[in-house]
Amino acid sequence: MTLFLLKKNTLLKATCLLLFAAFFLNTYALCGTPETIIKIGILSGKKRVHLKSYGKLEVVDINTLEAIKLKAGRDYALEAASEGIKIGDKVLGCQVRFVSRNRKEMLTVNGRRYRDTVMIKKTTEGLTAINELGLDGYLFGVLPVEISPDWPLESLKAQAVVSRTYVMNNMGKYESRGYDLSSDIFSQIYRGVEVENPKSNQAVTETVGQVLTYKGNLAAAYFFSSCGGYTANVKEVWGDDIPYMRGVSCPYCKDSPRYRWEKKVTPGLIKDTLNKKGYSIGKVRGINFISRTDSGRIKDMEIVHSGGRTTINGHKFRMSVGPNIIKSTMMSIDRTKEKFLFYGRGWGHGVGMCQWGAKGQADRGRNYKEILNFYFPGTKVKKWAY
Ligand SMILES: [Zn+2]
Repeated sequence: MTLFLLKKNTLLKATCLLLFAAFFLNTYALCGTPETIIKIGILSGKKRVHLKSYGKLEVVDINTLEAIKLKAGRDYALEAASEGIKIGDKVLGCQVRFVSRNRKEMLTVNGRRYRDTVMIKKTTEGLTAINELGLDGYLFGVLPVEISPDWPLESLKAQAVVSRTYVMNNMGKYESRGYDLSSDIFSQIYRGVEVENPKSNQAVTETVGQVLTYKGNLAAAYFFSSCGGYTANVKEVWGDDIPYMRGVSCPYCKDSPRYRWEKKVTPGLIKDTLNKKGYSIGKVRGINFISRTDSGRIKDMEIVHSGGRTTINGHKFRMSVGPNIIKSTMMSIDRTKEKFLFYGRGWGHGVGMCQWGAKGQADRGRNYKEILNFYFPGTKVKKWAY
């Protein structure tokens, strides 16, 4: 009996190793070198997750290494059960990995297609779905969401290098949850195969392995939508002094629809949103801008309210009230009868690459390296050994 179990386990392990070998061999980049594999959290806290593949599909129980063949084209509903993860009438352990055995047929999770493999984990909150895939396959599903694929190729290539550098700097950001990066705005927005576009895919493949470096080290590479004329010094926003992110004059983003913006906000919304973030604000009576940064953004401001006066950093005020309401801190303010009128220029924190500016420069014939060197002076684009 023991011998049988040993043999069975050895066989299962061998099967699993073969599956993994096939997976990793499949994720070779175009240049022939192994590609970095990353884990992206695509769903969390779900009671039920639907999985499907139009090709041959297998599910592997990570604890027992048991591999089960599943039918092509059939929708499998996974549910969190007390003992593990339930698939039909079978209950597997708390971690299972789905592998499509036909590379051309991708896995579909809740109706959305994903490259490579998908791990499902049971946690106390429910089921978590993690897409495990090659770095470039991930960037294929990031670029068209973070930047318009209709923009000139050189601006897309600049974004590809910046997004790849972001990944290399943030591997393991959500390690405690079992993945490297999330698929939302807290990492980079990732939407899988559905959003892929030939032109943005081209930008990724033409810059394969390339990242932004400073003095031989991986550089920090931030980006945002439009700067409104001058990018921010990183120190103004997050307090770090980084020599290649001290702000530059950018006359290239004037085509941005948010180059100028205005928004009316009620005193009640300001009070409620700030108090939710831990401030103690009474009825808001007035707002004064106290100081500006070198790039013209609000540094400190004062909220005059029924409980007194509270000084708040401009960036923190924007993030508290809402980054889509207060589009940037390069702003001014007027008081109408019942509301505050905020008006300003640009959209985003202003640190690093101005995406609309990158487009403007590409429209003027600059290549991606020139664009990156403009927003990150002193940096170099280099092929990185992951
Ligand atoms: Zn700009």
